[in-house]
Amino acid sequence: MNQPKRYTITAALPYTNGAIHIGHLAGVYVPADIYARYLRLIGKDVAFICGSDEHGVPITIKAKKEGVTPQDIVDKYHAIIKTSFADFGISFDNYSRTSAEIHHETAQEFFKTLYDKGEFIEEITEQLYDEEADQFLADRFVTGTCPKCGNEEAYGDQCEKCGTSLNATDLINPKSAITGNVPTLKQTKHWFLPLHKHEAFLKEWILEGHKKDWKPNVYGQVKSWIDDGLRPRAVTRDLDWGIPVPLEGAEGKVLYVWFDAPIGYISSTKEWAERVGKDWEPYWKDKETKLVHFIGKDNIVFHCIIFPSMLKAEGSYILPDNVPANEFLNLEGNKLSTSKNWAVWLPEYLEDFPNQQDVLRYALTANAPETKDNDFTWKDFQARNNNELVAIFGNFINRVVVLTDKYYKGIVPEASEFSAVDQDVLAAIKAYPDVIASSIERYRFREASQELLNLARLGNKYLADEEPWKLVRTDEARTKTIMFVALQMASALASLSEPFLPFTSEKLKTILNINSNDTTNSWNAVSSKKVLLPAGHHIGKAELLFSKIEDETIQHQLDKLIASKKSNEAANKKLEPQKETITFEDFSKLDMRVGTILEAEKMPKANKLLILKVDTGIDVRTIVSGIAESFTAEEVVGKRVTVLVNLAPRTLRGVESQGMILMTESEDGTLVFVNPDASTDAKVPNGLHIS
Ligand SMILES: [Zn+2]
Repeated sequence: MNQPKRYTITAALPYTNGAIHIGHLAGVYVPADIYARYLRLIGKDVAFICGSDEHGVPITIKAKKEGVTPQDIVDKYHAIIKTSFADFGISFDNYSRTSAEIHHETAQEFFKTLYDKGEFIEEITEQLYDEEADQFLADRFVTGTCPKCGNEEAYGDQCEKCGTSLNATDLINPKSAITGNVPTLKQTKHWFLPLHKHEAFLKEWILEGHKKDWKPNVYGQVKSWIDDGLRPRAVTRDLDWGIPVPLEGAEGKVLYVWFDAPIGYISSTKEWAERVGKDWEPYWKDKETKLVHFIGKDNIVFHCIIFPSMLKAEGSYILPDNVPANEFLNLEGNKLSTSKNWAVWLPEYLEDFPNQQDVLRYALTANAPETKDNDFTWKDFQARNNNELVAIFGNFINRVVVLTDKYYKGIVPEASEFSAVDQDVLAAIKAYPDVIASSIERYRFREASQELLNLARLGNKYLADEEPWKLVRTDEARTKTIMFVALQMASALASLSEPFLPFTSEKLKTILNINSNDTTNSWNAVSSKKVLLPAGHHIGKAELLFSKIEDETIQHQLDKLIASKKSNEAANKKLEPQKETITFEDFSKLDMRVGTILEAEKMPKANKLLILKVDTGIDVRTIVSGIAESFTAEEVVGKRVTVLVNLAPRTLRGVESQGMILMTESEDGTLVFVNPDASTDAKVPNGLHIS
């Protein structure tokens, strides 16, 4: 496609069981936003589409766990996600949700069309079933061993380790995620998309057609699946949360979430078109539209195999021109995880770093996981801000604005003769839009962001070499020319930074007094216009674009992560299962008294044992207690304790123990006394421990 008439850009629908974190931003939303903003700047017709994915098993599992309805869960997270995207400057033309009526209609209609065309296989098969929960098990309701890579925690629809797309019945040793039971098999009717029938088309379209322009990681994954052979895949489920299958006799069945979710791009486009008074169809059906899906690497199979097969089977839709999936971003050396709270959450970032959206956008772009998994560290974030945004970009702008204010009362001076250096710099400015554009159009956003910074670097070098602050005393004409050139560069940065640093670009346009409504073609103007800021133009006052991030701020973020790691470790600690039930008669045989430890000494040659003399109220007796690893003899003397006095005596290392001190473990695993004098608000011990 040479010059597309319009662009439909989709960003993966975020799943509404949690907030957005930096992994989502780096993998999908920041690159998609840079791309969409860039295209709008060069005057293209763009629909940038997204919305919340609100169906599927994890939402029902979460709702069950929290004792609320699935609708409660999706309402909560849809609002959080939508607000945080807007606050972060992700410039969607439309952000919809898959519980919207327009989506239910669109998805059902899509299914019905394929059904009527005979594109499904209808089959009664045996599916995994949990007898106790009285429920069929698919997708995340079942885990087991991946038949391809041996990962023991693969899900019923996909192995997250190797990315293979699975049917629940493929799993080895399947286990119900609801009850932990081994599932049985039960017959049920479902509709299958015969992917094997689309193999030839997929081969021709991707393996032959996109070998050169698709990213190697995407192409490689797709190739390996096609080479393995594709199989029919069920697109319906026996569930009560989702879009009802629009067929008679399909009561209690819904569309598979991965069947309905990508159709969400279409319904969100419809919603947008309705709102702005456009026709949605050309954005999905005109061959001169360029369709690009931004996704994370775990979604490749759905966007490169399943959804295109659906579009192809339907017949009236275009196919994606590219699917530039990123690899994963890790955090401080560990895999990002919603359930383990190992993440930097967007809403928290926006609260902790007010008005610093661009810093995170920049750090995630400069370190984007485009070709391999990458690591986000707070130190790198700080360095990107302090050494690049503050020291290079911000510093250049600040010098130019402050000097213009000081020397010329904020008025762009008249240039006289341009030196060879000036001419080189002016030519470089004109070349930058194409340099950056070329990287963006090849989905190399990391490279593009570094080119932008190179322009600011060039500005700093120009000022440092030409030293207008020295010449101002001796050569007025030359100083004016230098400042004129520097101001042109500042203006170019205001336009070219917009896709990457939209808030900074806006601020800079205000400082330079550039009409920010006039954004159309402002990108192209940098290379085509002779002068960006004419002599006589009044600029505004200096204002810092970026501020230094201090070590304390970074330490605070690191402390947050350490706290979350600790609480994970505590939560993952395996508790001993409850022992078998005893009768009240058993219990009433125990004679417990409050006693005081009078003396204590360590048992010779035994690490664990203390020999105690305990006043039980009825007598003073010897008790041998296995607490020496937690307490010294000195510590326990004088302690009031609970004593089981009628335990049959037994001899330990030659000393007869005549009872037992009751102990238990606190939440962090340390041994504590069952203290008769503990205040009532003390933590309830979680089980008696024989010591
Ligand atoms: Zn696997």
